Amino acid sequence: MPEILSKPPVFRFAPSPNGLLHLGHALSALINHDMATQSGGRFLLRIEDIDTARCRPEFEAAIYEDLTWLGLGWEKPVRRQSDHFAFYAKRLKQLIERELAYPSFLSRSEIKAAVAEKETSGRAWPRDPDGAPHYPGDERHWNASERAKMLATGGQHAWRLDMRKALGEIEGPLFWQETGAGPDSETEVVSADPAEWGDIVLSRSDAPSSYHLSVTLDDALQGITHVVRGQDLFHATSVHRLLQRLLDLPEPVYHHHRLILDAAGKKLSKSDGATGLAAYRAAGHSAADIRALLL
Ligand code: GLU
Repeated sequence: MPEILSKPPVFRFAPSPNGLLHLGHALSALINHDMATQSGGRFLLRIEDIDTARCRPEFEAAIYEDLTWLGLGWEKPVRRQSDHFAFYAKRLKQLIERELAYPSFLSRSEIKAAVAEKETSGRAWPRDPDGAPHYPGDERHWNASERAKMLATGGQHAWRLDMRKALGEIEGPLFWQETGAGPDSETEVVSADPAEWGDIVLSRSDAPSSYHLSVTLDDALQGITHVVRGQDLFHATSVHRLLQRLLDLPEPVYHHHRLILDAAGKKLSKSDGATGLAAYRAAGHSAADIRALLL
C-alpha cells in the first residue's frame, strides 16, 4: 500500500491553458472536487503551462472563470508550472549527474526520417502507447567528450531518460494502486511498464521541462495523495511511477476515469468549441445541467 495513505487526502485538477475547457475537463474537475469533499480532503488546482508557446494567459483566466461557474472552489495560491522552471531543472541536473539522462539532438522531422529509414527493412520500429516512435538517435551511446562537444555547439536539444539504464537502477517490481480503471478495465494493482515508452523526454528543446517530469515532481511537492484524471493518461502512469522510484518520491493512488467522446467516438479536443464549457454557459445551461449531464 502507498505509505502516503495515512495522511489526509489531497486531490488536484491540473489543466493546461492551451485552449478552452470542455466537458471532459469538467468531468475531471468535478470528480476530483467531489472525491475531495466526500473524503474530507483538499482540492488543488495546478496550471500546467510549461509549453509557453501554446499556453496563454487568457486561457488561464478562462479556466478560473469556468471552474467558478461550475461551483468549484480551490486552495490558493495556484501553482503555475512556468513559475518553477528552475525547480524542474535542478532535479533534471541530478538525473544527468547520475548519468540517467542524455541530450538528444534530432529534430522532429529528423526523427521521422530516421524511423522511416529504419523501417525500410520491413520491421516495425517500436512505438509508445500514444503511437509516437521510440527515439531512433544514438546519442545515448556517446561518451562524455562527444556529448560535451555537441553541447558546446549550442544546438537545440532535448534531454531524455536513458530508459534501459533507469530500469537497471530500480529494484523490485513497479506497479500502482488503481481505484478507477484503465482502457482495458485494468484496476486494483496494475503493473507498470515504462519500457514501452522508450527514452522519454525530461526537458524539451523548446521548454525547460517536460510533462512527465514536472507533473511527477509537482504531485510530490504538493503532497498529492490521489491522482484523478482521464484514461488517456493511464499508460503515462508507468513513466510517473518510474520517475517516483528514481527520484525517491512518494507514491500516490491513481484513479483514471472515463473520457467524454464526441459523436464520432473521438476524445474531445480543445479546438472543438461546441463542447466547450463557455459555449454551454452562453447557451443558457447551468452548472447543475453540466453535473446532471456528466455524473
Ligand atoms: N496537464 C495535463 C492535461 O491537461 C493533465 C495532467 C495530469 O492530470 O496528470 O492533459
